[in-house]
Amino acid sequence: MNGEAGFIGLGSMGLPMASRLIVAGHPLRVWNRTPGKAASLVAQGATVVAKPADAAAPGGIVFSMLADDHAVEEVFAPGAGLLERLGKGGVHVSMSTISPAAARRMAEQHGRLGVAYLAAPVFGRPEAAQAGELWICLSGPDAAKERIKPMLAMMGQGWFDFGADPGAANIVKLCGNFMIAAATEALGEALALAEKNGLDRTGVFEMLTGTLFACAIYKGYGGKIATQNYQPVGFRLALGLKDITLALRTAAESQVPMPLASLLHDRALAAVAKGRGDQDWASLALEASEDAGLLAARTHQSHAR
Ligand code: NAP
Repeated sequence: MNGEAGFIGLGSMGLPMASRLIVAGHPLRVWNRTPGKAASLVAQGATVVAKPADAAAPGGIVFSMLADDHAVEEVFAPGAGLLERLGKGGVHVSMSTISPAAARRMAEQHGRLGVAYLAAPVFGRPEAAQAGELWICLSGPDAAKERIKPMLAMMGQGWFDFGADPGAANIVKLCGNFMIAAATEALGEALALAEKNGLDRTGVFEMLTGTLFACAIYKGYGGKIATQNYQPVGFRLALGLKDITLALRTAAESQVPMPLASLLHDRALAAVAKGRGDQDWASLALEASEDAGLLAARTHQSHAR
């Protein structure tokens, strides 16, 4: 049996990640705002605790996989009890996609109580989390990294160390999600062009991703965009909008014009405004089809039948 740890946040990602740790022999104390979501972990042997502080042991390790800056900063606020209980020698492994500014702020607050803050945002959707195949970006203090690596190995297929700056790993994560959104937009526009000109979307997708664009993102997202089947929902569009917003905010703070990110932001904002916030974020590509009149044409055809 390995060391006990805490896990906070059991959404689409947190649940399979926590499950991997339990299967690897780590008894977990888990907390989620909606406690019912922990049921499958209880069946695996996890202990559900009533408040975040109870997930921590003095000097222990707590993982978090919460939605956004607000959620992580609220749960780990000084005075809320969790950091105080973790205390000297404790480690918070913060795996959400949050702003580098929030990560740096929390690292400072944690440090005052002797807790190490480790940024460990991940690439990979819930299926990858389930299979232990996430890619993990790390930044923060070295000793904490060494301590948690055996547990990261249960969740990911590898990690990349971006140094001591607690914000660094989050910047890498925002860069990656910006690139995924850009690929989604490119695929959405290209396949709308093909369809409007009488071509089969799937055939075009297969040619392009079987040859010049044969990478995981074009293939994985392209398959959903070609067939316009956005089920199951792996990553909510509302969270994608959060990430593009964070990328733009970080860009503004560091004076980096990102005209493409501005366009993607408007795309995502429009999609959320139209009620697509809880759809998978690959459905961002629907915007291009909609602008080309393809969605309206399809609705018209199905009504005419
Ligand atoms: P999700 O399914 O929406 O889960 C969000 C989690 O945060 C839930 O446990 C939710 O609790 C909790 N939460 C939200 N607001 C809270 C608050 N104010 N106080 C306490 N708890 C709160 O999201 P997810 O897809 O698992 O994503 C989690 C993080 O990973 C996000 O930062 C996301 O950007 C990142 N990420 C996601 C993916 C993906 O493919 N899904 C991939 C890589 C990274 P409830 O259950 O009570 O709502």
